[in-house]
Amino acid sequence: MEEREREREMPQFEKNTVHIRDPERVEQIICSLIKGGASKLQIITDFDMTLTRFAVNGKRCPTCHNVIDNCKLVTEECRKKLLKLKETYYPIEIDPHLTMEEKYPFMVEWYFNSHTLLVEQRLQQDKLPEVVRESDVCLREGYEQFFDRLQQHTVPVFIFSAGLGDVLEEVIRQAGVYHPNIKVVSNFMDFDEKGILKGFKGELIHIYNKHDGALRNTEYFKQLKDNGNIILLGDSLGDLNMADGVPNVETILKIGYLNDKVEEWLEKYMDSYDIVLVRDETLEVPNSILQKIL
Ligand code: C5P
Ligand code: MG
Repeated sequence: MEEREREREMPQFEKNTVHIRDPERVEQIICSLIKGGASKLQIITDFDMTLTRFAVNGKRCPTCHNVIDNCKLVTEECRKKLLKLKETYYPIEIDPHLTMEEKYPFMVEWYFNSHTLLVEQRLQQDKLPEVVRESDVCLREGYEQFFDRLQQHTVPVFIFSAGLGDVLEEVIRQAGVYHPNIKVVSNFMDFDEKGILKGFKGELIHIYNKHDGALRNTEYFKQLKDNGNIILLGDSLGDLNMADGVPNVETILKIGYLNDKVEEWLEKYMDSYDIVLVRDETLEVPNSILQKIL
């Protein structure tokens, strides 16, 4: 397709946030997705910093964990400890000079230490809606259109998050977009009979073990055996493994949000994701693609 024709077809791709290594390939993938239509499509998406905003007017937005870190249920002393952990481990998470394998044990340490602190706080389950309501967590612009269109066309959406499932579900519920076509796989809190946090359910999902979590969900993906066309959305290189449990991938389009350390990461992200969205706080590009397919 001629450059000009492409521009006309997808004006959203002309935004300066959009970076594509191989436009011809992306075009072919999108053509296949359009051909397959709604009945062959499924979405596999990360949550924190992919569906939620990284920043508003330069101010960082919270992850699911940060919603709890900053809430009134946590003591001042605990908040300081959680902040210290973040200051230690977040720079490792986004360090461009370390491999995923090198980061892996540090991420396990971060989750272990922070989850232990949360359990010590004996958080109350029934306070979570209020805590989410009072937080600064914010879905990306265009989220209503994104979720509503997928629901209208009954496209399965798998939200696969190394965040906190209870917070995540509350965020999308309060936003009015927790539709029946959504399945959430994340770290869910385990409460005692009085509704006090006593631990976490199942295997830990952290930023770099999504491969294992994906394989634990092969049953879900087997049920979707006709949905071989996938749009994967992520913000971390660990998110590229989210589709590892899909037995029948026909076409996959990988869209990556690059939020932090942009200069250091851009090349690597462009090698790994088909479309890279740099400091783009919206769902405009995914929405424009969905509009073509659905
Ligand atoms: O939904 P997603 O898989 O992106 O959730 C993981 C995010 O949670 C990471 O971006 C990481 O920075 C964040 N995190 C956090 N506090 C922790 C552990 C992870 O903010 N204790
Ligand atoms: Mg994320």
